[in-house]
Amino acid sequence: MKWEGDRQSDNVDDRRGMGGGGGFGIGGKTVGIGTLVIALIGSVFFGIDPSVILGGGGGPVAVQQGPQGQQAPRQTPANDRETQFVKTTLAYTEDVWTQVFSAQGAQYQPTVLTLFEGATQTACGTGRSATGPFYCPADRRVYIDLDFFRLMEQRFKVAGEFAQAYVIAHEVGHHVQNLLGISDQVHNAQQRAGEREGNALSVRLELQADCFAGLWANRTNQREQILEKGDVETALAAATAIGDDALQRQSQGTVVPDSFTHGSSAQRVRWFTRGLETGSVEQCNTFEARQL
Ligand SMILES: [Zn+2]
Repeated sequence: MKWEGDRQSDNVDDRRGMGGGGGFGIGGKTVGIGTLVIALIGSVFFGIDPSVILGGGGGPVAVQQGPQGQQAPRQTPANDRETQFVKTTLAYTEDVWTQVFSAQGAQYQPTVLTLFEGATQTACGTGRSATGPFYCPADRRVYIDLDFFRLMEQRFKVAGEFAQAYVIAHEVGHHVQNLLGISDQVHNAQQRAGEREGNALSVRLELQADCFAGLWANRTNQREQILEKGDVETALAAATAIGDDALQRQSQGTVVPDSFTHGSSAQRVRWFTRGLETGSVEQCNTFEARQL
């Protein structure tokens, strides 16, 4: 993925090096969980049982922290290559969604992407690395602990910046769903639905976020020519690795479609591809689709 030198977003809130969120009134709770937390990353985004990651297969992909998480706070937030990459990817999402919204006579309000380590306070409760990257509708923020990208590489063998950009674009996709009122509608419908229907609605919401991520890639590539040979394959590999069926097979040996909340690998690949090929919001209507 070619992104170097492109605009970097100012909408990044870097909370790293703050002693695990101590500045946000939750300091004590985060002590001593460094290794464990990183091993647990992915339970929501991946939809997997954390015990799988902690169990066989080489053990946790943990970055060793100091004793009991007592890291010396960094003086200034890091602005290394990875941080610059995240800021640039976020800027791409701002450019694309501003364009899409204004074509409909609306104004896109960008999300704030919060970088954190371990745990941080959010309007949705205490956000933890164990949750994987997530979006909180109540404060309209995306939360990411960048160690998640290490987990993708080491545990799921998904590497490459474009695959990481897909993860960010997927979370921003949830922000767009929030702005459009889709998340609220789904949430309300889920209150009235049983578990099975509720899960089916979650799948449609997640697949739409995947389609929005594909749309983002399509439009960003048109504007900035970011795609390089092999990039799309890495994103498809990511979508495949995090399909519910792949994860269930890995964790329990069997696949139980009714319990899917993110969609199967094939579905995630299909909807990302649809967004990528069309660049069209209308093509991402997973809620009207007869076949996912
Ligand atoms: Zn999602």
